[in-house]
Amino acid sequence: MSSQLRSAAISTSVLPEGHLLTHARTHLHHTLPKVGLGSAEAISHITEDLAPAFNASSRSPNYYGFVTGGTTPAAALADNLVTYHDQNVAVHLPTETIATEVEDKALTMLCELLKFDATVWQHRIFTTGATASNVLGLALGREYVIGEASAVRNEEILSVGGLGIVEAMHRAGLEKIQILTTVPHSSIYKAASIVGLGRASVKDVSLKGSTHRIDMTLFKEYIGTPGSGTIVSISAGDVNTGLFATTSLAELQELRSICDMHGAWIHVDGAFGLMGRMLSGPEYSSIISGCEGLELADSITGDGHKLLNVPYDCGFYLSRHPSYAQKVFQNPNAAYLATTGSNDGILSPLNVGLENSRRFRALPVYATLLAHGSDGYREMLEQQIALARFIADFIVDSDDYELLPYSDGPKENQIAQTYMIVLFKAKDNKLNEELVQRIKATRKVYVSGTAWEGLPACRFAISNWQVESTREFATIKEVLESIIKEYLLEGAHD
Ligand SMILES: *Cc1c(COP(=O)(O)O)cnc(C)c1O
Repeated sequence: MSSQLRSAAISTSVLPEGHLLTHARTHLHHTLPKVGLGSAEAISHITEDLAPAFNASSRSPNYYGFVTGGTTPAAALADNLVTYHDQNVAVHLPTETIATEVEDKALTMLCELLKFDATVWQHRIFTTGATASNVLGLALGREYVIGEASAVRNEEILSVGGLGIVEAMHRAGLEKIQILTTVPHSSIYKAASIVGLGRASVKDVSLKGSTHRIDMTLFKEYIGTPGSGTIVSISAGDVNTGLFATTSLAELQELRSICDMHGAWIHVDGAFGLMGRMLSGPEYSSIISGCEGLELADSITGDGHKLLNVPYDCGFYLSRHPSYAQKVFQNPNAAYLATTGSNDGILSPLNVGLENSRRFRALPVYATLLAHGSDGYREMLEQQIALARFIADFIVDSDDYELLPYSDGPKENQIAQTYMIVLFKAKDNKLNEELVQRIKATRKVYVSGTAWEGLPACRFAISNWQVESTREFATIKEVLESIIKEYLLEGAHD
């Protein structure tokens, strides 16, 4: 990718200055005009008054908050075309538009990139993000678990989609459905609430001392509880630490065989972790083993607007059970939405996903995958990991900062485990309380605040396509060093 393209997109400050926010706020329209301003006036208000008060999250490689990603030029241009052509990708109409076929190709190329066999993962769909994909995963899991429980009782196969959850569970002999997981993203609780399982159904089965790992003894105890159906949710990439819940193919095989005995569904939340499946080489072995065996799951969540670097909003969902998709999402009795009978295997999105009318969010994915290819995407990720490891290395050697989550292991292991997230804190407790604010106040680098073992902690999440590890590290090192210097100087004045 040309460095010209990169630097053109880079802005120097990650946050707008206070006066720009104040300006925007005072110029913000509060009421609907009776007579419109006209397009030109409305747009210039946005570009001149409001846009300077936006943060540079996607546009700056030095914005490390949340897991934000950016927008590759190909994806950005394609997204403008999405608006221009404004296709509604709801019904597969192969004689009328190529849109559903483009969506299908974007999804099969994504499968190729992430080493999932598209002939196995036949239920594929773009969503609005990983939260929506997690809702799909739990909705499908719920349908499956109840179906399996009713099959065991020789009942007809019962469906939540048809009967509703209360009657379906009652007739299937299920008292509860539990979601067994470790270090779940907050959206798993939200998804559990939405699909009627409840946040309390999310049960932590983590190993003491390494909370991302699954305690197999505890897991077997839970899954064997009589009257319980189980959905397992594997965090393939914990958003706080970047660590993976599982560590080998053998572990996934064991989980799979236990789940098969109990009619349980395995969902993977791999919002940003799935990209680790592009890597090879011994320096990435901890990431590679964290991604091993995920193809044994039933459903998978991935995000587009994170490491894939397409614009908001875009996520994707894969499942091996297309017949269950229709049970949950079939849009019945709307003759005008009927699919023209085609036998190309492409399902009408409105019958296998949440939305009916849908944005053509496949087009930016298609564009950026073509523009960069699998090599380009692997190289982007390698730059991101390299930067994360430079930071981790610097922090491990520092007298002032401490690398988390496991600061007691050998240095080489800590660095080798680092994916694209770096969690750390300041050793001085008073400085640590203010660390995130002080970093943000430089406006050169943005980090997220979080907590680790009851103390505030600071987190870099590196996910932007523009990242050049050595260039960005120089800025970060300068910021982290200058904060210590200033803090010590302030102390000298006290
Ligand atoms: C970001 C993230 C989510 C939620 O994704 P959205 O795209 O914000 O809906 C879910 N799970 C994990 C692991 C994430 O990192």
